[in-house]
Amino acid sequence: MALSCGGPTITPALALPHSARIAAPHVPNVAPGPSWKAAANPRSTADNVGTSGRPFGWPFFCGAQWLFSRLRVGTPAQSAMAKLYFSYAAMNAGKSTLLLQAAYNYRERGMRPLLYTSALYAAGGVGLISSRIGIAEPAELYGADDDLYLSIRDHLEEGKVDCVFVDEAQFLSPDQVWQLARVSDRLKIPVMCFGLRTDFRGQLFPGSSELLAIADVLREIRTICECGAKATMVVRQSPDGRVLVEGEQVSIEKSVYVSLCRKHWEEAVGRWPVKGP
Ligand SMILES: [Zn+2]
Repeated sequence: MALSCGGPTITPALALPHSARIAAPHVPNVAPGPSWKAAANPRSTADNVGTSGRPFGWPFFCGAQWLFSRLRVGTPAQSAMAKLYFSYAAMNAGKSTLLLQAAYNYRERGMRPLLYTSALYAAGGVGLISSRIGIAEPAELYGADDDLYLSIRDHLEEGKVDCVFVDEAQFLSPDQVWQLARVSDRLKIPVMCFGLRTDFRGQLFPGSSELLAIADVLREIRTICECGAKATMVVRQSPDGRVLVEGEQVSIEKSVYVSLCRKHWEEAVGRWPVKGP
């Protein structure tokens, strides 16, 4: 575990017991982007989302400074440089927290963010992006057949849109990822997608696959395995704790997933030790 007050190399390893990894609040960790020292003005570049700015409030103790600085998400200026971003992680890494913090920063500056989330998660047809640390925002819902380019263009006719945020981006169709790419390319609005990279079988989600292929900026949001290593994989568990290795890719129950490092994921799903003939 290496928390630093001033350096750019930050590798928090908040070792939580296995049973606490779902419920306990994690410190979201954004993969190192440009040095935070280089991002004195969080609006100066679109490349500093989630990684920008020196810690504020130096009287705070070092760990709190680190957390706040991680959450001080930048607001890329709407410009000819609008980009398509994909921030990906395993489960419970703090993706929604970072998204909501970034959207808040836009509003704080008098700008208008547009939030979307998958209809797969919508209880009662109401769009809501919520974080495990207790914050939430209403969001537009997108279904499999929605054209997000047209939807965002309609919003643009009502008023300016400074940034588009998409949660649960793993559920986007490849076509929808291209629609979002057009939003950045042709409407000149930055689009920030947050989602899982792989499912419990270790397979890419369709939306994540397309985003990894064509997004301008890829960022990994880190969380950790029980061993302290970076968790990049997720396992699905039954209510009684058994690891499931088969089933549908899409399940909206977040609580049945645990993030593990690749080594422990292979063991959890029974791929190791390798069985002989
Ligand atoms: Zn591990």
